Amino acid sequence: MSGSTDSIQRQLAALRQGFVEQLPQRLATLGAAHEAWCSGGAAELEEYHRLAHSLTGAGATFGCERISQLARQLEHYLKQLSDAGGEAVMEQFVTAARLLDEVRTVVSNLDQPALLVTDAVDDELWFRPDSRLVYLLENEETSKSHISNQLQDFGYCIERFSHGVALQQAVAEQRPAIILADIVLAEGECAGIESVAAIQRQQTAPLPVIFFSNDADFDTRLAAVRAKGVAYFQHPLSVGKLVDVMDGLVERETSEPLRVLLVDDQIDQASHYALILQRAGIVTTVVTDSMRVFDVLAEFAPELILMDMYMPKCSGVELAAVIRQQPGYVGVPIVFLSSESERNVQLDAMRKGGDDFLTKPIKASELIQSVTICAERYRTLRSLMSCDSLTGLLNHTSIMASLDNEVARTSRNGEPLSFVMLDIDNFKKINDSYGHAVGDSVLKGLSRLLLQRLRKTDFVGRYGGEEFAIIMPETPLLDAAKVMDEVRQLFSETMHCTGDKEFSATFSCGVAELLSLTGSGELRELADQRLYRAKHEGRNRIISSDT
Ligand code: GH3
Ligand code: MG
Ligand code: MG
Repeated sequence: MSGSTDSIQRQLAALRQGFVEQLPQRLATLGAAHEAWCSGGAAELEEYHRLAHSLTGAGATFGCERISQLARQLEHYLKQLSDAGGEAVMEQFVTAARLLDEVRTVVSNLDQPALLVTDAVDDELWFRPDSRLVYLLENEETSKSHISNQLQDFGYCIERFSHGVALQQAVAEQRPAIILADIVLAEGECAGIESVAAIQRQQTAPLPVIFFSNDADFDTRLAAVRAKGVAYFQHPLSVGKLVDVMDGLVERETSEPLRVLLVDDQIDQASHYALILQRAGIVTTVVTDSMRVFDVLAEFAPELILMDMYMPKCSGVELAAVIRQQPGYVGVPIVFLSSESERNVQLDAMRKGGDDFLTKPIKASELIQSVTICAERYRTLRSLMSCDSLTGLLNHTSIMASLDNEVARTSRNGEPLSFVMLDIDNFKKINDSYGHAVGDSVLKGLSRLLLQRLRKTDFVGRYGGEEFAIIMPETPLLDAAKVMDEVRQLFSETMHCTGDKEFSATFSCGVAELLSLTGSGELRELADQRLYRAKHEGRNRIISSDT
């Protein structure tokens, strides 16, 4: 278990302890609300109901099932009275008092350990291998070391082996994200498959394996499938296609963590669920005052909002409706998390803007799964709308919108900002010589290289055709030019394959810095002029000044 997992466990335990310690105080508050209702009448009922509801949810959250059940009975009773107009007679005050007393009795006996049900989180579930570590099993005599070098350029960490036994030992010590294996080794015609099959037998979940071979006969392919190979490539390898498959295999682990906003007036409950989500690698922000949601929405850009149903200033359903009124947030999934168990109330909440309804108590794994599925779906939808379908980079509209945003932000905070226009050299010739599909794979290869080499905070977009635009926040001109020159060098050394032919390609860049320019239009124009000069002065170069 990692140190941070340990500390999350400790924090969860501390929150639960805090809940238990504050129970007498909570009950005193409930008692006071009861008295206020008895003497004040219908007007005091809403607050009393809210407090009972809140105890139902907190009990469920912190594993005190019995308290939650009894509080729920009180809550339902108060709800019925409130639905009936709120006026009560002596008999009803007495019934409510009896229900409240039952809660008191359970709380005073709480030292019976059976009352605290722990929801242990399965650690296995959160274990992530080093997501970029790749073991390459290859035939020493026929190996092409450039594969290993090129994969490193795409951010993979490659360890090479020439014997099955050595690979087996390495896997036992550290599980890689992927195994790449030659089928024919010095040890024998099918030694690669046999070694991998032996390794797979030791695993509870199979390792992702990609096989390479000169042959592609049915029997060998079948043996590869039986050794749980997920892909099969014939030599000579196309690095681009190989990386596509590898990226697909590790995508989940390497993509940006999901962002979830929790809205709940109860800080301890919100923190509890936030910790559970954090354990699964999700980034969270908690808002306890519903009025503050809008400040956080813009800043945090959540990919899902997990919302409480009953809050003092406005209800979850009302807040969802207000959020949906803003064009930018129409699509953000809103999931209610509440102890509300009445199906018609849940359905009503979903009609009014919720995407899902989770009921407390909820198992950690269920919460994580529901949240992850919903947030990932939203992320995919958004990226389909804002990304170029061939390269997965931001499309023209999105990169230009990002440039406007970044220019505005930088003008406020005074940090440097650089902008790059990039165009592949003589791309038409590549299409003409090797075909459009090969041209496409060069575009994809360059996109991957840009994403790999640039910072996570940079914006990379396909401006159109074989032109790309890159926004580099907090980067002065010289740094931007230096980084782009490194990418230029790498790209020019990358070999692209088609059939048995290999070729390389180059690009040119114009780089400009915001500095004294007034807006995004001028910045783009200057970068474009410099790109034009780079082409004019011989291509395969970066121009970042006007002299
Ligand atoms: P220069 O060095 O001056 O930039 O020359 P170039 O040949 O790269 O520039 P030109 O603008 O003459 O040609 C760009 C070519 O890019 C023409 C177009 O057919 C091709 N192209 C544009 N979009 C795509 C695409 O999505 N896939 C492929 N394969 N080719 C594309
Ligand atoms: Mg071009
Ligand atoms: Mg062009």
